[in-house]
Amino acid sequence: MNLVDVHCHLNHELFKQDLDDVLSRAKKAGLKRILISGVNPPANREVLALVKKYPEMLRASLGIYPIDALGLAEGETGLPRQTVPINLAEQFTYIEQHLDQVTAIGEVGMDFHWADKEETYEKQAENFRKIIRFAIKVKKPLVIHSRKAEEECLQILAEEIKNNEIPVNQHCFSGRKSAMTRAIELGHYFSIPPNILISSNFQTLVKKAPLGQLLTETDAPWLSPSKDRKNEPAFVRETIKKIAEIKEITEKEAADQIWQNYQRVFGD
Ligand SMILES: [Zn+2]
Repeated sequence: MNLVDVHCHLNHELFKQDLDDVLSRAKKAGLKRILISGVNPPANREVLALVKKYPEMLRASLGIYPIDALGLAEGETGLPRQTVPINLAEQFTYIEQHLDQVTAIGEVGMDFHWADKEETYEKQAENFRKIIRFAIKVKKPLVIHSRKAEEECLQILAEEIKNNEIPVNQHCFSGRKSAMTRAIELGHYFSIPPNILISSNFQTLVKKAPLGQLLTETDAPWLSPSKDRKNEPAFVRETIKKIAEIKEITEKEAADQIWQNYQRVFGD
């Protein structure tokens, strides 16, 4: 059984001490690939360094987090902080220079939880469109963050991406049922975190979406299914169990299909 975590932040300071243990637990749990997601220029550099160190298992997703793109610091997050707006053109050049080490573009998108919608919609939408066009140009899949901005992100993705020219993965998608339906119709993928164990929203999403459009992620160290432990890639195992239960198939069937989905979206 090959398992995959398509979205986590192993460059987070909470993993500085125990990364080797975390990766060996992941291996034991059956994880074959782990995509580390960048959020801003310094984080993207850390992601590439990590992937270089563990080339067998880790892959890089370089991102421009919508809040970081605006230069709005959310306070200490444990990731490198971005306190001035990101120069998108410069970051695109950086990503292009490292394209052979890059598996996906993300996390990117829009966020109206940490930034006021009235004040920032225009700028966030403008940045998001530029990033989508860049991903199309370099032919890489997109990993979308759309907190409190699900419908707005779907609208822009539908306008910018024609004929599914690049795959779209919705990370931790928390939209309402109507937004779920639209994203399913657009052919988007959904990466499901282990807190599906306690979240009825993710359970509904797994019920509604075809198995062929599901992926697994952790968003580690965040979104742990248990309060007293930080999240880590090995917990994908729990998500697979839950997906198998909801879809009424075996764990192996769930894992095999998700592995195929992973290869279709992200390649190696
Ligand atoms: Zn994330």
